[in-house]
Amino acid sequence: MSLLRLPGLIDPHVHLREPGGTHKEDFDTGTAAALAGGFTAILAMPNTQPPLTDAASLGLAKQAGRSKARCDYALFLGAGSENARAAAELAGQACGLKMYLDQTYGPLRLDDLASLQAHVRHWPAHRPIAAHAEGRSLAALILLAALRGRPLHVCHVSLREEILLIRAAKERGMPVTCEVTPHHLFLSERDASAIGPGRSEVRPRLATVEDVEALWDNLDVIDCFATDHAPHTLEEKDSTTPPPGFPGLETALGLLWTAVRRGRLTADDLILRMHTNPRRIYGLPEQPETFVELDDEAEWEVRGTELHSRCGWTPFEGRRLSGRVRSVVLRGREVFCDGRVLAEPGSGRDMMAS
Ligand SMILES: [Zn+2]
Repeated sequence: MSLLRLPGLIDPHVHLREPGGTHKEDFDTGTAAALAGGFTAILAMPNTQPPLTDAASLGLAKQAGRSKARCDYALFLGAGSENARAAAELAGQACGLKMYLDQTYGPLRLDDLASLQAHVRHWPAHRPIAAHAEGRSLAALILLAALRGRPLHVCHVSLREEILLIRAAKERGMPVTCEVTPHHLFLSERDASAIGPGRSEVRPRLATVEDVEALWDNLDVIDCFATDHAPHTLEEKDSTTPPPGFPGLETALGLLWTAVRRGRLTADDLILRMHTNPRRIYGLPEQPETFVELDDEAEWEVRGTELHSRCGWTPFEGRRLSGRVRSVVLRGREVFCDGRVLAEPGSGRDMMAS
């Protein structure tokens, strides 16, 4: 066995489904899945039920985190059509503002230019705006952010033209950063039929092989790898109205480490995108005495039934991966060891607690 020590990984894009969807995931199971995947901190998305758009809903989610989280976390506020001022007043309690400009899961979506501009104007310039913006929406949002000279983080980039647009914006010196998911790096539309018609539904959709290649070819433009862990039950995925989303916390490191072993990226490339950059972009506090021990040579097969996530399935079922998390230490305490989560619910910290 050859053990490598990595810093605690940070996933800047996770859906914990609490409040409102705890039959698919909650702070307890979602943060257990995070630790099993080598993540010691996660940033949770606001498209819950109710969505996190005001002090009351944010308080509900924070209470759930305080009593149940097993790793450290911070919450996004959601940009609604009416809450630009109220959200800005709560900015100190959130890791960022999440804007939905395109089709996603849940009702949280910005459709008109006026509310989009209000958020870009009111949200504090030193706190990140993270956006689900595809195609033309992405071009529009980059312009609005550039006009105000404020940072913008683009979530789950999946298309060739999008990564090239972000490259062009960066080359002009615009403060744009972006993330790509493992499923958009390791799956294409060709895999959809094998995964199954409902189970392969995800937003942004699985793209063409050419899009996947373009992401790999523009790795230098990609600031973060983010799972967009978006669990739904198999019953929901196999229904006539399958909701979009894949779980990803427990397969991300294995997929990316397998790519390291095959020479597609280096260990430093991975640490930069799964630790250093997420911390810098969101201004997250250091986690002292925190690290992951990875068995570099261990080979394993992905099985949905073995996941800690409540959803119990994965689009990577049966895939053989290299590199397995042996142990996770968070603030000096071993919180995961050989398949077992040792951290108690409630031991994780809110990184944006005042
Ligand atoms: Zn998402």
